[in-house]
Amino acid sequence: MVKYSVVIPVYNEALVIRETYRRLKRVMEQTDGPYELLFVNDGSEDETIEILKELAVKDETVKYVDFSRNFGHQIAITAGMDYASGKAIVIIDADLQDPPELILDMIDKWKEGYDVVYAKRVKRKGETMFKKVTAYLFYRVLRAATEIDIPVDTGDFRLIDRKVRDQLVYMRERSRFVRGLVSWVGFKQTAVEYEREKRFAGETKYPLKKMIRFSLDGITSFSYKPLKLASLLGFFLSASSVLGIIITLYLKLFTHSTVAGWASLFMVTLLCNGIMFMMLGVMGEYIGRIYDEVKQRPLYIVKETWGVGTQYEKVPFYME
Ligand code: UDP
Ligand code: MG
Repeated sequence: MVKYSVVIPVYNEALVIRETYRRLKRVMEQTDGPYELLFVNDGSEDETIEILKELAVKDETVKYVDFSRNFGHQIAITAGMDYASGKAIVIIDADLQDPPELILDMIDKWKEGYDVVYAKRVKRKGETMFKKVTAYLFYRVLRAATEIDIPVDTGDFRLIDRKVRDQLVYMRERSRFVRGLVSWVGFKQTAVEYEREKRFAGETKYPLKKMIRFSLDGITSFSYKPLKLASLLGFFLSASSVLGIIITLYLKLFTHSTVAGWASLFMVTLLCNGIMFMMLGVMGEYIGRIYDEVKQRPLYIVKETWGVGTQYEKVPFYME
């Protein structure tokens, strides 16, 4: 039984993984208990897994779970939490944007009695203006859209107590937004602040497409507000069309100025159709997720593990 588990999702991180290992190792050696470095290889196409194997053979604190293909960052974190056996579990990105040294501060907070210690970014270095702006907006929109209290500017870099993990493993929903789930379970939570470094090497694995998907997952899995907004918009449009009909009838019946031309008709048709399709899209986002959910497929498929127990031991209801 280890005291600390560090969960590191990796996807094509061959360029950084050795350095990440070195830095993590240095930090974890300063802690007061046995630890494990649990890498989750999310279907990397480069030499990531070979490097992991090499490290694992040399160092028994290195363990890994190797996926059968790429399942995505949030799923990789989930698997990490499933397999982690520590009393405190730290989730950290592999690219050293999250400074490993902060783990020591998190552990201090944990010892003070906090169950979740999340890292709050006060500054982001070496990221594009676009990423900064979209990230800023994303956290604010999410906060406005959802009822639960998801702290702004925090990623998945955090420490969670075993009892939080033991609750999280019961939440097998597919469109996963792990930081939301962690807020949702509650317990005593606090923050430590840090400056987000730039990536040590390699490129971001979150291109725009994945970022959008991720944001939609975040909002749809914690809020119906988009649906409510759609119906509100519907009511508003219906009300204004009644008004429009009354005005048109009045003009037609009691005055000589008939409403002119096709331009107005054309605009109304375009606008209404646009709004209608948008609402259908919003509904589609939810329906698609319901569809994913009812299929009840496993969240991920493991090809191979090293140093960890079987899936069944770790998540007892997994086979159900
Ligand atoms: N990652 C993953 N699967 C993916 C995409 C990313 O496991 O499909 C990992 C990646 O290796 C890294 C972490 O998730 O450790 C965060 O990814 P990245 O640094 O590319 O995201 P960014 O910091 O640019 O948001
Ligand atoms: Mg990164």
